[in-house]
Amino acid sequence: MKTIALINQKGGVGKTTTAVNLGAALACRGKSVLLVDIDPQANLSLHLDMDVFGSDASIYDILVGKREFFEVVRDTAVPNLKVVPSNIDLCGAELELVNTVGREVILQDALRSFIDSLETPFDYILIDCPPSLGLLSLNALAAAQEVFIPIQAEFFALQGMGKLMEVVGLIRSRLNPALAVTGIIVCMYRAQTNLAKEVMREVRSFFGNVVFEAKIRQNIKLAEAPSHGKVIFEYDPASHGAEDYNNLAEEVLAVEDHRRSAPLPGQPQPVMANPEPPRVPSSGDDDTRPESPSAPEETRADDRANLAGAAGRAVENDQPQVPETEERAAGPRALPEVQASSDPFHDGSETDPDNESTQGAVT
Ligand code: ATP
Ligand code: MG
Repeated sequence: MKTIALINQKGGVGKTTTAVNLGAALACRGKSVLLVDIDPQANLSLHLDMDVFGSDASIYDILVGKREFFEVVRDTAVPNLKVVPSNIDLCGAELELVNTVGREVILQDALRSFIDSLETPFDYILIDCPPSLGLLSLNALAAAQEVFIPIQAEFFALQGMGKLMEVVGLIRSRLNPALAVTGIIVCMYRAQTNLAKEVMREVRSFFGNVVFEAKIRQNIKLAEAPSHGKVIFEYDPASHGAEDYNNLAEEVLAVEDHRRSAPLPGQPQPVMANPEPPRVPSSGDDDTRPESPSAPEETRADDRANLAGAAGRAVENDQPQVPETEERAAGPRALPEVQASSDPFHDGSETDPDNESTQGAVT
């Protein structure tokens, strides 16, 4: 069983769409999948046609200790796919829990007890995080074994990644030693643009071999499906969106098989990547020119061959790939600076990610 948090503090990058449709794709392949919606926006729950405005049991009840995990798990229209929904009540949870001892590990504890009680464990538990590094996201990271980071193939794709890596590192060192960043999922990809190609190069340079080869293209069917309360495989199984999430699921399973057949000693070693992400170069004036054949394809082949090399595809980027001065000399537009370190466990300070007022600084 794998518990995976889908996280990126940047909003609207494809976290929820990926949690729903990757989960459904895995479920369609016979895997038992539990989706956990820990986002007060409750988009994942809405996508799966749950009632998030009423008094139905939700993740909120688990976090405030009113209900056990098993009381909240619900079926979906997709066989093998279950969900722990969110609820608008979750908006207040961060404040309600501010004085609770061990508030970062509530989900971890609840999930562990739940998993221990199961006769047949889930194959995958996917946790859909909100677009922040607040308490709810910290709970998700403390409860997960792995982190998938959906990113949008656009100019600001890597903005905030240093901060996210830092928080993952802190959670790992203090609460969850097994945590590893094991997948970068490129979403809303527009293959024919030079910008997308350049962003991909930078993303691969920053994250190395954990970037999934399968990319999720921009596809209107993926954007339409939530309003019908359907996963993409129900809404339009012939769409590019369905094809891309099928490919991603195949790759996730292939990585799993690879790990099983070639286990490496020790735990995955994530992620204290360079807190200053490389700067994405400008694509020039024309971002609609066709993508020309180039190195990334070779890189992908190498990456696939090296899958096992990182003990579970964990990110090991410690050093900047390109010195800042070189980048500046080459004339790219600089990404906004990553803010100074903060400690998510330090209450009440200016840099506490629990404090929503500091969220702007985090990214
Ligand atoms: P938030 O940070 O607010 O939780 P998110 O990272 O979960 O957002 P999504 O809700 O998955 O992002 O996607 C943002 C919007 O983009 C949604 O309207 C979704 O339907 C749409 N969308 C997601 N992926 C694609 C895609 N590949 N092509 C077209 N639209 C997409
Ligand atoms: Mg979302």
